[in-house]
Amino acid sequence: MHHHGFGIYPSLFYDLPRLTNTMLNYSLKQLSTLLAAKKISSVELTGEFLGRVKVLNPDYNAFITVDEKMSFAQARVADAMIASGQAHPLTGIPIAQKDIFCTKGWLTTCGSKMLSNFISPYDASVIERFNAAGAVNIGKTNMDEFAMGSSSETSFYGPVKNPWDITAVPGGSSGGSACAVAARMAPAATGTDTGGSIRQPAALCGVSGIKPTYGLVSRYGMIAFASSLDQGGPIAKSAEDLALMLNVMVGFDTRDSTSLQRETEDYARNLAKPLQGLRIGLPKEYFVEGMSADVARAVEAAIVEYRRLGAETVEVSLPNTKLSIPVYYVLAPAEASSNLSRFDGARYGYRAPEYTNLNDMYQKSRAQGFGAEVKRRILIGTYVLSHGYYDAYYIQAQKLRRLIAQDFAEAFAQCDIIMGPTTPTVAFDLGEKNSNPVQMYLSDTYTIATNLAGLPGMSIPVGFSDNNRPVGLHIVGNYFAEAQMLNVAHQYQQVTDWHTRMPHKLTA
Ligand code: GLN
Repeated sequence: MHHHGFGIYPSLFYDLPRLTNTMLNYSLKQLSTLLAAKKISSVELTGEFLGRVKVLNPDYNAFITVDEKMSFAQARVADAMIASGQAHPLTGIPIAQKDIFCTKGWLTTCGSKMLSNFISPYDASVIERFNAAGAVNIGKTNMDEFAMGSSSETSFYGPVKNPWDITAVPGGSSGGSACAVAARMAPAATGTDTGGSIRQPAALCGVSGIKPTYGLVSRYGMIAFASSLDQGGPIAKSAEDLALMLNVMVGFDTRDSTSLQRETEDYARNLAKPLQGLRIGLPKEYFVEGMSADVARAVEAAIVEYRRLGAETVEVSLPNTKLSIPVYYVLAPAEASSNLSRFDGARYGYRAPEYTNLNDMYQKSRAQGFGAEVKRRILIGTYVLSHGYYDAYYIQAQKLRRLIAQDFAEAFAQCDIIMGPTTPTVAFDLGEKNSNPVQMYLSDTYTIATNLAGLPGMSIPVGFSDNNRPVGLHIVGNYFAEAQMLNVAHQYQQVTDWHTRMPHKLTA
């Protein structure tokens, strides 16, 4: 981890824990109330969480960069905003930012050697929005290189560990963000989701996460992987917290050509609504094969809870979902091969120290700067886009993408919301799927279709496996149904306590 200026704040000597267990579980709203009542300052709160990062991060590797000086500077600004009555709901609250968001003055690596020397000269839209809200950046979180992965093991900065079990992966690619929230190193975090990278790590770490409808969160300054699929979103402890995070993150942006211009909405507005009469669609294809017994048990128990809350279930069918992995692994690498062509050693980022001419410089910089998974994607992408294969692979995949979206449209004629498991299994062991890319790709089997369709998806914790690893429930809504999905998740979280569980050794 890159430390800048740890120890410049002399009054804080960190012992774990300083925040009480109850405080570690405080919602964003509760933290905001404490700050507004001047029970704690943002500088103090920031110091407490930085203290936890300092003690816990060496074990978990959730952060690539922590810059105490910059965080405290933002906290002082937040305290001034609060003092002058200009506070927003997230003013003064520390938020961990995935290292895919360009952050002015901060090292922004995207988990790659290619950007290991890149200090961003500008802020991503998402970062600008958090800054305007007075939130404090607590650090940049570790991730799979260029967000390619499902385990956070492909990072140039080493693997992230799962706080529930240090021998397990946290999921990916937003594994650092999910780990940071699960280990209570930050009250909330940002992530990005191209095929499951918010929901899958949220599920594997026992926290909540939502990928909004494509186009709601600006991609400006969010380092591009597969532009037609990438979408930013929050990871937090509860649906209620996700709503407050979305209120900051969502908004039209002229600098992103796929940004949607819509009326501003309050994502927390429906949280209290009873679920009487809600029609939950259960895709029959999800409940037949592939799902482990542990996951099935917890997901089925959650469905029973929803029936108790007044919802009814209907069987729906998503027959083309089985095609989503092959379709995704044509389209995402195709877009990635184009997006990643900008990393050539010439403009910014890593350049090979020795080379003979311009071509050699490109080749050596890319050969040395990219890791194996990124190279695999560039090769596949270049192949499927090349003359003679374009029609057979790329065009064909685009057609299937339409069919996959069509399945959801038909399902949503019969139900309000779709539920199933977020992942086929709980967190797997570190190293378990490293040598088998296809096995790794299959861990996104339930999440990828929503990215292909552009639909919103979320994951909430609903239990544990026999070996005490968290299980996530996947909730998919129709386009722009985020407020409804958060309502559905919040009502469950009012009558269950999975979302308040913390890994034991991290508490007093
Ligand atoms: N695991 C998928 C991949 O490697 C999805 C990653 C993501 O959503 N960023 O492409």
